[in-house]
Amino acid sequence: MRQYRQFKEQYPDYLLLFRMGDFYELFYEDAKIASRDLGLALTARSKGPSAVPLAGLPYHALDSYLGRLIRAGHRVAICEQVEDPKQAKGVVKRDVVRLITPGTLTDEALLDQRAGNYLAAAFPVGDDQAGLAWVELSSGDFRTMLTPADHVLDELIRIGAAEVLVAEGSAFDTAEFRQTLDQCTSAVSTSRPPWAFEAHGAQAALQEHFAVATLEGFGFEGWDASLSAAGAIIEYLRETQKTALDHIRALSKFDRTDHMAIDGNTLRCLEVHRTLRSNRREGSLLSCIDETCTGMGARLLERWLTFPLTGYSAIVLRQDAVEELTTDRQRLADIRTLLGETSQIDRIAANIALARVRPRELVALGQTLAILPKLAEAIAGCSADLVAHLMPTFDGLDAPAYLIAESIDPDCPNVLRDGGVIAAGFHDELDRLRRVGADGQSWLAGYQAEQAKRLGIPNLRIGFNKVFGYYIEVTHVNQDKVPADYVRKQTLKNAERYITDELKRYETEVLTAGERAKDLEGMLFEQIRQQLAQHLEGFQRAAEALATLDVLGALAQLAVDRGYVRPTITQDNILEIVGGKHPVLAQQLAETFVPNDLMMTPKKDRLLIITGPNMAGKSTYIRQVALLTLMAQTGSFVPAESATIGLVDRIFTRVGAADELTRGLSTFMLEMVETANILNNATSRSLVILDEVGRGTSTYDGLALAWAISEYLATQLKCRALFATHYHELCELEGLLAGVRNYNVAVKEWADEVIFLHKITRGGCDQSYGVHVARLAGVPADVIDRAKTLLPQLQAHLAEGLDMPELADRAKQAAEQMQLFADRPAHVAREIKALDLDNLTPMQALEALRKLKSDL
Ligand code: ADP
Ligand code: MG
Repeated sequence: MRQYRQFKEQYPDYLLLFRMGDFYELFYEDAKIASRDLGLALTARSKGPSAVPLAGLPYHALDSYLGRLIRAGHRVAICEQVEDPKQAKGVVKRDVVRLITPGTLTDEALLDQRAGNYLAAAFPVGDDQAGLAWVELSSGDFRTMLTPADHVLDELIRIGAAEVLVAEGSAFDTAEFRQTLDQCTSAVSTSRPPWAFEAHGAQAALQEHFAVATLEGFGFEGWDASLSAAGAIIEYLRETQKTALDHIRALSKFDRTDHMAIDGNTLRCLEVHRTLRSNRREGSLLSCIDETCTGMGARLLERWLTFPLTGYSAIVLRQDAVEELTTDRQRLADIRTLLGETSQIDRIAANIALARVRPRELVALGQTLAILPKLAEAIAGCSADLVAHLMPTFDGLDAPAYLIAESIDPDCPNVLRDGGVIAAGFHDELDRLRRVGADGQSWLAGYQAEQAKRLGIPNLRIGFNKVFGYYIEVTHVNQDKVPADYVRKQTLKNAERYITDELKRYETEVLTAGERAKDLEGMLFEQIRQQLAQHLEGFQRAAEALATLDVLGALAQLAVDRGYVRPTITQDNILEIVGGKHPVLAQQLAETFVPNDLMMTPKKDRLLIITGPNMAGKSTYIRQVALLTLMAQTGSFVPAESATIGLVDRIFTRVGAADELTRGLSTFMLEMVETANILNNATSRSLVILDEVGRGTSTYDGLALAWAISEYLATQLKCRALFATHYHELCELEGLLAGVRNYNVAVKEWADEVIFLHKITRGGCDQSYGVHVARLAGVPADVIDRAKTLLPQLQAHLAEGLDMPELADRAKQAAEQMQLFADRPAHVAREIKALDLDNLTPMQALEALRKLKSDL
């Protein structure tokens, strides 16, 4: 227990799994937690008042229990016996050999094949800058980025980090940051000592890890905060992994300007890689278009979708490759069949480096390497640059492929412990040891016959007994025939037992052959692992090539299967779509989905006001435009008859507070803060999607704000924007401002029914049909009738109140309100005044305070 406590003190934040023979045991609080989360029986180590709570799990079941502990949000320290208990004097020596945290998973059993597992670090510098770094320990992918501090969360969301390292006492080491992180992602944050992030400490860690004198080779000139974050990651990995990290071979600098900026909110609203409601992959754009055949490809596709490109030629390169792959269906099918037979060699390579590789992973690696030449052959006819460039990557791995084929038994078990891993014929001594076991009986029979003949005693017998081992038994009658080289071992009533040197040698060998074979296998396996570790770079490059080919092939397959077309990419600020479909909804609704066109040009149709009744299809339409743009800049083909996409630098999406029911903290304030973010950050090249913004407040207020926001978009920012709104009054803007154009979603009234056509048509719409929708929803007829009689009266009243001069006036007021966004202190003061303290929950109060603080 003293030994236990010493380790527990060292790792207080971890559940300590303490190896005791065939079990891992947990004590005290840890035992209670494990018993609760794993359903293990809670017992006690001793009786009476000093009883220590105890829970244990069998060592061979560690994998499955580990998975559950990590998913339950725990960190786990594995404490092993590090000497042979048989040879130990006193208490067996133990040591913590590995720490497992949510961001450092490497075991196949703990990882999702099709999702990355990233460890990130964030480090603020100055007032508004931050350095980010993120690594996937299970593949070695290691990147950094410099970003404005208020974009850190957005980036962490799209990276999909599982764990974020922050410096103790830094701006990110706050309850507030942790809470927001928790709300927006499933990441945990881990505080690390500040020195790990300090320029000097971090630099030393990086230089030592990469064995370089300067980081210039990776494109870093001088120091920046992203290197602090990267250094802290290496330091953390060293502490937790306690093993070589040779597979982390490079650090690449991520340039934000090469990629479309998408904030976390937009990713969520568009459901790019997670759904809004359940935060799951299923139902998202990603899962809808994911036709990849490998886990490596699935992970890369997610990265492509969350980091769309902004460079014309980079996009066209991908499109060319996708297009070429669609032209030859047989070739595409062949490539995809071969890809389907490959394994995740990036993760296997990582496990080779970390010395955690499993026997069957090596078999899988060998099989994958053997497929590479076939893939090279399959793509040999391709001339698209991106595909042609993959060719050489598939070469030069014959040696490791051969080594594995020769050394590892393809039918081996997945653990080394019981042997049977090294192939027969690979190592003479191992073969001999195995033969000793198997052939033992026939050797004995031969030896017995030989001795019987030599001594002339036909009934001479060789036997075995647990106490004395092997012996030759000669009856008393034949004692005179016993030669001098026989050594007496035991005397029985009517016989004597002897041993010979030869039999003695055989005995030791047989008795130990099994053990020695296993030891030898372990040694050989380690040698093979080290030899394979020489090829890490080759494996990683092949993995990258497989992933790229897989994604390109998957996009081609998608285009073929669903009739997607190649969008024309241009630098002009236009968007033109004919027969466009919402990729996800169109899959669900199939034939019944109504395709729609879009026409946006810089002069006349910059801002489209989309009106129409509830349930008409406004939200679907504007999201569809954003999704098609995003897909196009990923290099994918799009669901449309034709499309011309003028490159977009950012996509912004804001869904009105009233429409966004999923986030509990959703308030009108939040809606305005996010709108402010859009208006402050959009450029003329951005695409802005506003859905029912302004709805979360009173009608006049909301309308005035919506009006002013529209004006600002059309006259100041001049970016492409789509505004779906139930304020049909906004349609007046078309006549007043250049660049504004009205559209509505057609409905047909027929015998008191409303039929949704889901078709976008020119012109505004003059009513909301809310009453009709209410009837569809089953509101009682009495209420509907009453509403119908009220409606014309109220409309008349409203029309009176909304004459144009007044509207213009309100617009002016609203424009002044817009100054809020520029004049933050005044705006904060006003917000504080406006807070209704009597009706705020503590949670809302905290949230409001957080917002005010960030506004400042
Ligand atoms: P709105 O935002 O106008 O209230 P939505 O865009 O939320 O309407 O659409 C409401 C429903 O109408 C969707 O859930 C979908 O089932 C259907 N819908 C929308 N657009 C289409 C379309 N183009 N074709 C077929 N059905 C559609
Ligand atoms: Mg809507």
